[in-house]
Amino acid sequence: MAKVLRLILGDQLNSKHSWFSQPDRDVVYLMAELRQETDYVHHHVQKIIAFFLAMRDFADTLAKQGHLVRYYKIKDADNPQDLDQLIPRMIREYQIELFEYQLPDEYRLDQQLTRLCESLSVPSNTADTEHFYTTRYEQRDFFKGKKQRIMESFYRMMRGKHDIMMEQDRPLGGQWNFDQENRKKWKDDPEIPPPLDLKRNVESIYHEIQEAGITTIGRVETQGFNWPISREEGMALLDYFCKHLLKHFGDFQDAMDPREPFLFHSRLSFALNSKMISPIEVNNEVVAYYESNKDIIHISQVEGFVRQILGWREYMRGIYWEYMPEYADINEFGHTRALPDFYWTGETRMDCLKHTIGQSLSYAYAHHIQRLMVTGNFALLYQCHPDEVDAWYLGVYIDAIEWVEMPNTRGMSQFADGGIVATKPYISSGNYIQKMSNYCTGCHYSHKEALGEKACPFNALYWNFLVTHRAKLESNRRMRMMYSILDKKDPQQIQALVDRAKYLMEHPHIL
Ligand code: FAD
Ligand code: SF4
Repeated sequence: MAKVLRLILGDQLNSKHSWFSQPDRDVVYLMAELRQETDYVHHHVQKIIAFFLAMRDFADTLAKQGHLVRYYKIKDADNPQDLDQLIPRMIREYQIELFEYQLPDEYRLDQQLTRLCESLSVPSNTADTEHFYTTRYEQRDFFKGKKQRIMESFYRMMRGKHDIMMEQDRPLGGQWNFDQENRKKWKDDPEIPPPLDLKRNVESIYHEIQEAGITTIGRVETQGFNWPISREEGMALLDYFCKHLLKHFGDFQDAMDPREPFLFHSRLSFALNSKMISPIEVNNEVVAYYESNKDIIHISQVEGFVRQILGWREYMRGIYWEYMPEYADINEFGHTRALPDFYWTGETRMDCLKHTIGQSLSYAYAHHIQRLMVTGNFALLYQCHPDEVDAWYLGVYIDAIEWVEMPNTRGMSQFADGGIVATKPYISSGNYIQKMSNYCTGCHYSHKEALGEKACPFNALYWNFLVTHRAKLESNRRMRMMYSILDKKDPQQIQALVDRAKYLMEHPHIL
């Protein structure tokens, strides 16, 4: 009989973890597909498929290495579907003397397991996931006593501390940040390589999910599911990124195109967030590839990528743990509106939203600027409740796990945290979308017009937002330019814009 029970959650698929260095017949590993996880929000069907397939692959790998694994599939008759029942049952069944788990990254699960352990008949231990660069509260401690809390200073500290792209104490290439060079529009050139082909048939697991009665969103092409579901596939995707996409990554990081859902983005977020691959190995591989290909890759492409993983990803995690659980309820602007129905169908005459939502439903994926400046920007200007926005983002994306989804959505995109993550709201009129994308050309609306039936809805909504939230925003140094442009407008025109915005907000079906 095993003496130790170790729980592995669905996003803890780190095969390099020290737990697995040697098989030990005194240890039984528990993995389970649970309704408590599939049902706390409506997930994209591809997200559930990806997690279940990756968990099954991980369990098989452990078993092949000689570890003792107990795995519950979603439809197993004796699956209790929640941890509160499952763990005490396993303790009884195996006569367990010690329960261990890796620290969850999600607050909800952290609380549940802490509570559960207090009620168990055996002692318990926690272990680190051995995945991130930082510990849960390292960032909070870094900012303690500092006047400003901005990502850039955290990122610079991280570059130095982990000696990434450094020459002694100085950043490689003489500057920390090449963001200004990363803002090109993509105009059919350079050619975008097709995504790495990992396609597999997922009909069988799709039917299991259907038969289990799980409510999902989005769609899946069951013959051609194209996400990595094992460490090997995650590493293959990383290799593909280095060889084919990295050289243009930074340049077109903010570009958007209706025909190209992925552009030069890595699509590594699911492999990273399920912990099949680690941020440390991703950065090391990318920097090493750059070092041996300096003749074809400019430093700005690489720095742009490293900043996302070493900077933003760790920073968001730090924010989450510092500010939870209060963070989940903050609503700086007091917005209350529901998300328009087209967020679940993509059926709107606004081409930018049609394409961004359409590809999110088809691939469980949109890249950062689409999430921030199209769907997020619109939800903020439309004054939607941050809970609604959070639930949509948490459900729709393959990589959405609350510790990273919430600071990005509630913080960066909705400014509902009043400026903990961002120094100003990320809002724009149709002009920005036209500048960075090829959406406006085929759109029913005109990005140049602010009033009238054909006027781009982003325009009136944008000016209305500034008018509505003047008291909260006008003293923000980074908003001064926007308010000075607003103040140059004729008051009658401002009123007409406000009226138009209100009309649009009351009639979402016309959009
Ligand atoms: P690439 O563009 O290739 O970037 C490489 C990696 O950098 C990503 O895989 C990711 O791990 C990391 N990264 C980049 N930007 C961020 C960021 N802002 N925060 C954290 N990590 C980042 N990312 C998630 O992983 N899960 C989410 O649920 C999520 N929700 C988001 C919601 C909103 C409103 C916004 C604006 C962004 C969100 N992001 C989220 C961040 C980012 O959009 C995704 O990480 C990225 O689009 C994933 O695609 P990729 O792997 O091709 O990324
Ligand atoms: Fe979007 Fe406006 Fe451009 Fe249409 S015109 S694609 S609604 S920004």
